[in-house]
Amino acid sequence: MSLGNIHLTPQLVQSVRDAVDIVDIAGEHTKLRKAGRRHSGLCPLHREKTPSFSVDPDQGLFYCFGCGRGGDAIKLYMLLSGDDFPAAIEVLAQRYGIPLPKPSRGEGRGGYRQERDIEGVLKAAAEYFAEQLRRSAPTLGYLEQRQMPIEIVEKYGLGYAPDGWRNLLEAMKGRFALQDLEAAGLVARSDRGAGNPYDRFRHRLMFPIRNAAGRLVGFGGRTLGDDKAKYVNTSETEQFQKGYLLYGLDMARREIRESGTALLVEGYFDVLGACLLYTSDAADEH
Ligand code: ZN
Repeated sequence: MSLGNIHLTPQLVQSVRDAVDIVDIAGEHTKLRKAGRRHSGLCPLHREKTPSFSVDPDQGLFYCFGCGRGGDAIKLYMLLSGDDFPAAIEVLAQRYGIPLPKPSRGEGRGGYRQERDIEGVLKAAAEYFAEQLRRSAPTLGYLEQRQMPIEIVEKYGLGYAPDGWRNLLEAMKGRFALQDLEAAGLVARSDRGAGNPYDRFRHRLMFPIRNAAGRLVGFGGRTLGDDKAKYVNTSETEQFQKGYLLYGLDMARREIRESGTALLVEGYFDVLGACLLYTSDAADEH
């Protein structure tokens, strides 16, 4: 399912407000020191050298004297993650074990659970592809030839779908149902869906694609052979709709918000290249 799909009830929002721990949320992004009733540290929302960020766990509020931002734990989570309110409620509810109502656009019985399985399938496939990449000297050589350092390859979780028709199918056998692999857009069938299932991605460099909230929703695969289709994507699913996705946004959005600028490029490799450029720029500054 896509984030923000759930029906936000006042009870749900209140349960999240009650459960969420502001010290816990802030503590993930900055080192806090307890000073009396409050905790203080370097502000995770702006760059600073002396601490002007303070959290009051009793009131559940934060405030920064440096950038002037303040609010409750949900607001802090939204600022840190870039999630909008419904997405923040959903993520925090899951984190604190608060049951979520059925999705408002759900397909009836079990719809929600079914989507969860697909995310599991995609994650397992991403791990499988990454492992295959580590074992594929020619693919690693290709990345080296494109001057893509291994840190960037790992940061973006690139992988390799080996040549052949049933590699992924065999690797996922017993772990996931065939229907889930098909629903995740990883396996196709010939003869209008009636024929034998086969791997959709073969001999391709795999780019995991995440939505803005950082959830894995599909893959793009670049051919490493002479396949006429240079790029193949996961088939469109509810979560994977190309028109609504911007590759790499999950990695860049905090920086975009802080700096107020964004660099938009065309292809997957361009995004990696831009990341490389930015990272080396940042390294030069220090
Ligand atoms: Zn601040």
